[in-house]
Amino acid sequence: MNASTRYPHVFTPLDLGFVRLKNRILMGSMHTGLEEAPDGFPRMAAYYAERARGGVGMIITGGIAPNAEAGVGGKLSTPVEAAQHRLITEAVHGADASVKIVMQILHTGALAGTPACVAPSPVKSRIGRFTPNELDEAGIQKQLADFANCAAMAQRAGYDGVEIIGSAGYLLSTFLVQKTNLRTDRWGGSWENRMRFPVEVVRRVRAAVGERFLLIFRIAAMDMLDGGLAWDEIVSLGHAVVDAGANIVSTHFCWHEAPVPTIATMVPRAAFAQVTGRLRRELKVPMITSNRINMPQVAEDVLARGDADLVSMARPMLADPELVNKAREGREDQINTCIGCNQACLDHTFGGRLQVSCLVNPRACNETLLNYPPVRTPKRIAVVGAGPAGLAFATTAAQRGHHVTLFDAAAEIGGQFNLAKRIPGKEEFHETLRYYRTMLARLGAVQRLNTRADAAALQAQGFDEVVVATGIAPRTPDIPGIEHPMVLPYIDAILGRKPIGRRVAIIGAGGIGFDVAELVSHAGTSAALDIEIFAREWGIDFKNHPRGGVTGVLPQVARADREVFLLQRKAEALGKTLGRTTGWTHRMVLQRRGVVMIGGVDYLKIDDAGLHTRVNGEPRLFEVDTVIVCAGQTPLRTLYDELQHAGMKAHLVGGAYEAAELDAKRAIDQASRLAAEV
Ligand code: FAD
Ligand code: NAP
Ligand code: SF4
Repeated sequence: MNASTRYPHVFTPLDLGFVRLKNRILMGSMHTGLEEAPDGFPRMAAYYAERARGGVGMIITGGIAPNAEAGVGGKLSTPVEAAQHRLITEAVHGADASVKIVMQILHTGALAGTPACVAPSPVKSRIGRFTPNELDEAGIQKQLADFANCAAMAQRAGYDGVEIIGSAGYLLSTFLVQKTNLRTDRWGGSWENRMRFPVEVVRRVRAAVGERFLLIFRIAAMDMLDGGLAWDEIVSLGHAVVDAGANIVSTHFCWHEAPVPTIATMVPRAAFAQVTGRLRRELKVPMITSNRINMPQVAEDVLARGDADLVSMARPMLADPELVNKAREGREDQINTCIGCNQACLDHTFGGRLQVSCLVNPRACNETLLNYPPVRTPKRIAVVGAGPAGLAFATTAAQRGHHVTLFDAAAEIGGQFNLAKRIPGKEEFHETLRYYRTMLARLGAVQRLNTRADAAALQAQGFDEVVVATGIAPRTPDIPGIEHPMVLPYIDAILGRKPIGRRVAIIGAGGIGFDVAELVSHAGTSAALDIEIFAREWGIDFKNHPRGGVTGVLPQVARADREVFLLQRKAEALGKTLGRTTGWTHRMVLQRRGVVMIGGVDYLKIDDAGLHTRVNGEPRLFEVDTVIVCAGQTPLRTLYDELQHAGMKAHLVGGAYEAAELDAKRAIDQASRLAAEV
């Protein structure tokens, strides 16, 4: 079946008269940190050009500020700055003249990390650093003029259009919402007054750039705020921005401060597209939808249902720049799918570690620095261990032309990802394994599964080099009674090798402790696979769309008939090591399932009565029937030592190299960099 048959809606061009988009997939805006990096422009040029070559119809850049108080590092307000942006537009149009590139104008308002930040009223955001300065009339006029000037500069820089973000808690959206707009002048109070600023921004921008320039308005179609926008307000704002000159309306969900997950891996695919669909039936311009649309079939289904005219994929384009080409050519099994983890993208942005990349594709945003050129003299390389590190090395080295043989003691590739994929909410990990399985076969890497490699056998087979990616061994803490039959290592618990009782204590509250708590407290279908269940769990009302789209009441969530205690020695709140943008969701879910989280625990002994501890100095017996140990890991590197002893050239990657603070991001990154050099 050819792609136009398989994805007919995706590959139908969209004609807007003065501009034609060759297909319905666009790369959504993502701040990468390159916007403000000293070497940012050449790197952004390479990054966007690679996505243009990869087949997208349109690219929207990361946010660029119209002025200094807007708060993001990259600013565009002068002809000199416009000349720098030419590097990006020329690279993209040079890569493929049919691809459109649109610059997002981002004014972060009260979220700007500067004491000069501005907003309609001096209302500090829960997640902002400063109380914003209230704009007076002259200040408002300055902001409007700066937006128009920024758009004109974008046009001068060769962009095909601009996107104005009117959501997420940034400047425009704080005018719209009552709790952040306390003004009593013509910019506040009634709904007409509150929407005046965003609509005026669109009007001024349109006046500055003329008619033949794309103007996309990103609307908060469901802001998830208690007291947020009502549906009729969203519809009337949509009409007003279209009347003021927007050609396309893009839907956005959630303010950054709202306590509802909208893009994490626990969110079902395309969960919010139905909201775009409802708005699309009201507005008469093409509409963009987004959020957790990570594969071409998901995009096709959304378009076929009439929920949108265009589908935005932002993180999936980090994960695989060639996603669209692969869909068109019927190679979707080769797509390196975004798993929604946020670990190398949004966690970096919001954690202040500005540079963004991707867990499954460390080349993202490093296109000028990390490359995998073909080799002139292929080597015979053995890779021992088919976890994320071994898989990343094997596929990258094979792609470069090396002859790779991959060993694993297990019957299937994946290492610990085979445990991760069993956790409710982590179903996307299956996609990473599918990707590696396909690539290994396609690249002709020899696979020796069910084979425990040892130094003598590897030496006998005459490999030039060996990459030791043997991973880790779970740590067994030195607690009297740890060998008691009620004690299970996390691997046995996740694989269901032994029954788990009704009262469970989990020793260790790192990423794996939290995942095990999720597994043992969970009941029924995973919310990540069912939009209704997900909506119910997070108090989202898609049908009636109350203000903000949320009911304000979090109902009971389905939970296993178990009492679960999640424990750690550190006397601090649990979950501090979890991802910046996702950790709070895990904590909230477990709390609502009644999982008891306790820090400051000394483990004394385990016996038939249960787990004896001191909690913050006080004796406490957890009368449990199962103790699951998730107490971290140590590196498994005996093979490496043996190889060194035998005089063979060997490298260590992933958990085998260093188990402390190991995650798949580090394992894949380290292995890919080694494969680039070997
Ligand atoms: P491993 O995945 O441990 O793979 C090592 C492989 O080597 C194994 O397949 C093993 O069978 C094989 N092996 C060992 N010795 C030999 C030998 N002598 N011969 C042949 N084969 C051998 N990380 C994240 O970044 N994000 C997450 O959300 C996340 N969730 C997780 C959830 C769970 C439940 C678990 C258990 C882990 C999770 N991780 C997560 C951690 C992540 O899976 C690990 O960091 C990663 O798998 C480490 O990769 P690795 O390749 O170094 O080792
Ligand atoms: P971890 O995050 O290092 O957590 C280990 C836990 O065990 C800690 O709570 C630690 O807390 C406790 N511990 C350590 N030594 C102990 C001992 N001797 N006795 C008792 N308790 C001990 O490791 P992990 O949970 O095994 O996870 C491994 C890696 O996988 C992590 O680095 C993580 O990033 C990654 N991962 C990530 C995710 C994710 O969602 N991003 C999910 C799963 C795993 P105390 O010392 O305070 O007791
Ligand atoms: Fe997707 Fe994770 Fe990569 Fe971000 S880091 S793009 S969420 S796979």
